[in-house]
Order: sequence, then C-alpha cells, then structure tokens
Amino acid sequence: MRIAVLSETDAAEPRVAAVPETVKKYKALGADVVVQSGAGLSAGVPDAEYEAVGATVAASAEDAARDADLVLKVRRPSAEEAKLLKRGATVVAIMDPYGREDELKVLADAGLDTFAMEFMPRITRAQVMDVLSSQANLAGYRAVIDGAAEYGRSMPMMMTAAGTVPAARVFIMGVGVAGLQAIATARRLGAVVTATDVRPATKEQVESLGAKFVAVEDDEFKQAETAGGYAKEMSAEYQRKQADLVKGHIAKQDIVITTALIPGRPAPKLVSEEMVASMKPGSVLVDLAVERGGNVAGAKAGEIVTTANGAKIVGHLNVPGRLAATASALYARNLYAFLETLIDKESKALAIKWDDELVKATNLTRDGQVVHPSFQPKAA
Ligand code: NAD
Repeated sequence: MRIAVLSETDAAEPRVAAVPETVKKYKALGADVVVQSGAGLSAGVPDAEYEAVGATVAASAEDAARDADLVLKVRRPSAEEAKLLKRGATVVAIMDPYGREDELKVLADAGLDTFAMEFMPRITRAQVMDVLSSQANLAGYRAVIDGAAEYGRSMPMMMTAAGTVPAARVFIMGVGVAGLQAIATARRLGAVVTATDVRPATKEQVESLGAKFVAVEDDEFKQAETAGGYAKEMSAEYQRKQADLVKGHIAKQDIVITTALIPGRPAPKLVSEEMVASMKPGSVLVDLAVERGGNVAGAKAGEIVTTANGAKIVGHLNVPGRLAATASALYARNLYAFLETLIDKESKALAIKWDDELVKATNLTRDGQVVHPSFQPKAA
C-alpha cells in the first residue's frame, strides 16, 4: 500500500496532513509513504525529517500522487489534483463540502473514494479522530493570543513602582471547544474573564474554569440544547433579551472573543454595530466565526478592521493554521487514528468496512458516485 502526503495547493493553508510521528506509524503498518517535497515546510517539518523516518520524498505532486492508494490532505483536493490520482484511490481530508456539490461530483467522477474528517461522529470511540475539536481548541487559544497582541495594554494586573495597571476584562461568547480554551488561556494570562452561551450545560464549565457566566437564564435557555449537545437557533425574543444583557456588559470589556456557531446555519449575529460602538478605544474583538458569516457586525474575513471609535475587529482566516506546527501534529494524529481502522494488519492493505458507522458518516464519494446522504438530490 502506497500512502501519499501532498502539499496543500491553497496558499492560505500552512498545515500538513502527516508529521514524522505518524509517518513512522504508517510505515509500521507496512505502508510505503511518499511525501511531496516541501509539504511540511510551513508547518516546520523539512523533507529530511520525513526521510529520517523512512518516507520517500517526491519532487512534484505528480510523482507523489502516482499510484498512491491512500492520499492524505488537509483540504479537499482540487480538480487538478484529482486528475493526478488513480481511480479507486482513497482520499482523506477536511472536505468542507457544503455548497461545493459540483466539486464533489468532480471527485466522484475521478473515481476517488473520499472521506470528510469533519463529519466524524462525536462519539467516545471517535474522540481521538475529532478534527473539529483538535483544531477548535487551538483556535480558541490563538484567538486570545491574537487579541492580546492587538490590545495595547497588558493582560494581568500589575503592581509596579510606577503604579498599578488593572487586569484586562475579557468576554468569551460561545463556550464550545474553542470558547473553553479561550477562557482558560485568558485566565492564564491574568485577565478577568466572563463568558456566555445559549447551552445551559456551559454555565458549570465556565465557572469551573474560574470565569463568570453571563446569560439570560429563562425557560427557553433551559431547553436550548439538542440531543447531540449542540446549540439550537434561539427565538427572536430570546436573542433580543440576550442582546440587552450583553449590551451593557460589552461596553465594559477590553477584549471580546466570539466563537458561536450553529451546525449547518450561518453564524449567529451576537455583537451589533451599536455594541461595537459602545466599546472603549483600544478594545479588541476577535471573531472566530468570521468564515461562517461572523458573530460581530463589521468583521471582515482575513482583515483587522479599526472602527470609528478606535476598536479593532480581528477576522483572521484559518486560525488553527496560525499554529501550523501544533495544528498539523494534532490533525495528523486524528487522521492516523481513523486510517488505522481502515487498514488490515495482515494484508497491510486498505480494507474499508463500509458499514462501520465512522465510515458511513464520513464517506462522501465512492465508486464514481456521491454517496453521502447530505448530498443526495432532493426528491421532487
Ligand atoms: P460549535 O463550534 O458548534 O459552537 C460553539 C459554541 O457556540 C457552542 O457552545 C454553542 O452553544 C455556542 N452558541 C451558538 N449560538 C450561540 C448564541 N446565540 N449565543 C452564545 N453562544 C452560542 O461547538 P463545539 O465546540 O463543536 O461544541 C459543541 C458541543 O459538542 C459541546 O457540547 C461540546 O462539549 C460537544 N463536543 C463533544 C465531543 C465528544 O463527545 N467527542 C467533542 C467535542 C465537542
């Protein structure tokens, strides 16, 4: 079995899908691993480190992809990449397929069996394969670091000979995986931290991290969690009450980090133009939901916007990629954990169990067809 690790073709993607640690493990399973030259460079892994653990380095994507049975990527392969792969090859990546049905069809037509790591069910067995969590955790950490870097003051309270500096006030909106890490990071830096979410279970989590919970705790709030543990879209009435509460709170904050998402829906708008305008000059908002439409009015994807009142809205894209080495290491481990279950130890070949729930949940294309239930044409 030949495994190919390709360079990412999107210039905005510095991560890589395999690191020496995982290459070693694939080798131990009996695979030949071919890495495209330079694939790991932006994640801090030179070719020589892959070679040192037994990988072959190929000069081009063509050479790396030729005859590969299994192709590891961070992002969905482009149509050009698909042409380099043999029919029947298996491709595993973060496929970001919604709204890209045409591209899925291209991958299916190329005869590729593709798997979307972000569709991994959030069950105990698959925790080690959960790329959403591994990457969101880093994004939450990095959001605080980015916010602190844009903030022209210190985070902790400091008592110095020149006088006392107050601690920064940091408000985290959305307490999923990213939000929890943002709370912990801001606390470690010495900020006074508050947080809000629409899921009642988060209150205890926020408090256990030493932050204060801020939310309208009415009857709707008490039932605002789906069976899967995700947020529901809240009623207009709840959103108005929450906005009133948040309005007064935000005006007193130095740094606001927003992470709120609802699966399959645009990101909820949590911070209005009026709220942004109420913030002090020099305050910072970091919008981690900017790629899904943004939580903050005026946030621009890929930009840092300075508002009329002197606040900054930070809208970095691919925030996990801003920690490319760590993000790659964790992504590569997630990938290995999944792929290990697809490889037969005896024959040392791919032996995909198509009725396994993890396979069914993540498989997008197979045998020339788009097979995932979320991408079937709607019945007329
Ligand atoms: P997410 O990225 O989908 O959303 C981030 C947060 O935004 C969520 O906490 C959500 O409740 C919140 N949010 C949505 N609308 C909001 C609003 N209007 N105001 C304020 N906050 C709002 O979430 P996630 O990080 O993927 O986590 C979602 C759930 O999945 C959590 O319960 C988490 O613990 C759980 N989870 C389980 C596993 C597992 O069992 N393996 C792994 C990871 C996460």
